[in-house]
Amino acid sequence: MSATNATSTPLDVQQFRGSRLELLDLTLAYGPIDVVKNVDFTVAPGTTTCVIGPSGSGKSTLLRGLNRLHEPKSGDVLLETESTLTVKPDELRRRIGLVFQHFNLFPDHTALENVALSLRHVKKMSSAQAKELAHRRLAEVGLAERSDHRPRDLSGGQQQRVAIARALAMEPEVMLFDEVTSALDPELVKGVLNLMADLGKRGMTMVVVTHEMNFARRVADQVVFMDEGRVVEAGPPAELFDNPQSPRLQRFLSEVL
Ligand code: ADP
Ligand code: MG
Repeated sequence: MSATNATSTPLDVQQFRGSRLELLDLTLAYGPIDVVKNVDFTVAPGTTTCVIGPSGSGKSTLLRGLNRLHEPKSGDVLLETESTLTVKPDELRRRIGLVFQHFNLFPDHTALENVALSLRHVKKMSSAQAKELAHRRLAEVGLAERSDHRPRDLSGGQQQRVAIARALAMEPEVMLFDEVTSALDPELVKGVLNLMADLGKRGMTMVVVTHEMNFARRVADQVVFMDEGRVVEAGPPAELFDNPQSPRLQRFLSEVL
């Protein structure tokens, strides 16, 4: 076992082969109320799309629709050319990982066990195999030396990185992030954002719901602005941030920037 410095980039970093994701006229509802309405956009393989917009605009519901934690009312989501509606939900959630604001780690298990348990259950690995791979994934998120800590003995940022390592261990084709830094103390935000930026550079396809406008500007290939369940504007970050067309985006940016 190598003594990896917790903050340095590991040498044998894994490259990802992210898949293309295409949303086709996607509508999601709670009962009779549509909260995501006719959304279309494509996330090219290995690129990052940041979704921004006011609270209640449907961003979280949209992400949950992408891996069918929320069943679409109509429309479709393609992974490469395959309709996600034809993929079994369990398989789909392995292929499209979702990390939330609240990290949902098992409190009585160490960081290593949190990752290894998923590998044993989902990938049916032996205990030894799962532990070895879990250790590698934790090293990649800078937590090699924290692998035997329980969540309560880790900072919020470290817990969030364990949750990300656990999702990555499933070898997803796409990663979804829902405001993963919103609950963190300010000094811990940067480490998690840098990790996400790093995943993007390594080829992961990502959809990131975030309030971190500097991150969106720096890392996104595409920014999607939602309001009241609809995509109001979408395009490269420089276009949206420097030259917003709609009054709604202009107002939103004036409030958050
Ligand atoms: P955002 O993530 O942009 O804040 P959400 O996707 O959480 O937006 O919510 C979109 C809309 O759906 C909001 O109007 C919200 O009140 C509504 N909503 C969210 N969750 C539920 C639910 N479980 N039942 C009914 N309505 C919901
Ligand atoms: Mg939300």
